[in-house]
Amino acid sequence: MNIEEYKKIKSGLPAGVSLIAVSKTKPEEDIQMLYDVGQRIFGENKAQEMKLKHEHLPQDIQWHFIGHLQSNKIKYIAPYVALIHSIDSYDLLKEVNKQGVKCGRVLNCLLQFHVAQEETKFGFSLEECEDMLKNADFDNLQNINIVGVMGMASNTDNRVQVREEFRKLHDYFVLLKDNYFSGRQDFKELSMGMSGDYPIAIEEGSTLVRIGSAIFGERNYAKVND
Ligand SMILES: *Cc1c(COP(=O)(O)O)cnc(C)c1O
Repeated sequence: MNIEEYKKIKSGLPAGVSLIAVSKTKPEEDIQMLYDVGQRIFGENKAQEMKLKHEHLPQDIQWHFIGHLQSNKIKYIAPYVALIHSIDSYDLLKEVNKQGVKCGRVLNCLLQFHVAQEETKFGFSLEECEDMLKNADFDNLQNINIVGVMGMASNTDNRVQVREEFRKLHDYFVLLKDNYFSGRQDFKELSMGMSGDYPIAIEEGSTLVRIGSAIFGERNYAKVND
C-alpha cells in the first residue's frame, strides 16, 4: 500500500480523467485507508468479492466491475454497481438488463474490445460489435445504458505497440459514437490504462484509468479462491 504514490498519481491526472483504484484481491483495510484520503471509485473483478466489500465498506463508494462477468453472477453486483466495464456479448447485455429490471435500476455499461495481441483477453472485435449494434434490438433493453468502451493493451515493454492499441480503441470509440450513439451525451467514457501504461493511455484520450498494483502493491493470487 503506497499512499504517497496514490497522491502523486491522483494529482497528476488531467481534468476529465478519473482514477479507478483497482482493489481486487486486496483487504478491506487497504480500501478503507484509501477511502480515508479521499478515493471513492474502486474496481473489482470478482462478483462475490465485490459484494462482500460493498457490504462492509462505506456506502458512498462507487464500485466498478472490471473483470470477465458470468451471467449467473450479475445478481451479486446489480443492486449497487456504478459501472460494468466488461460487456463482451449481446447475451451478457441482455442478462445485465434482466437483473437491472429485477432491482429497478438502469445499469451503466461499457463495451469491452479486444485490441491486444494476446489471445487470452476478452472482448469484442469491431466487426462483432457492429454486428450487434446493427442487429440487436436495443430499444427493448430499458435497464442498461451504454456509456462508452473499455480495453486493455498488450502486456509488453514495446511502448509503440501499446500506443497503437490504445489509439485503435480510441478510433473505435469515435466510430461508435459517430455511427451508433450520436447525440447521446452520456456515451463519453474511454476506459484504458493500468499501472504500467496509463500515461500513454491518457495521451491517447483515456477518461478512466484503472490502477491497481502501483497503489496497492503487487497482488498475491495464490491466496485467492473464486
Ligand atoms: C487488474 C486489472 C487492472 C489493474 O492492473 P494493474 O497493473 O495492477 O494496475 C486494470 N484493469 C483490469 C481489467 C484488471 O483486471
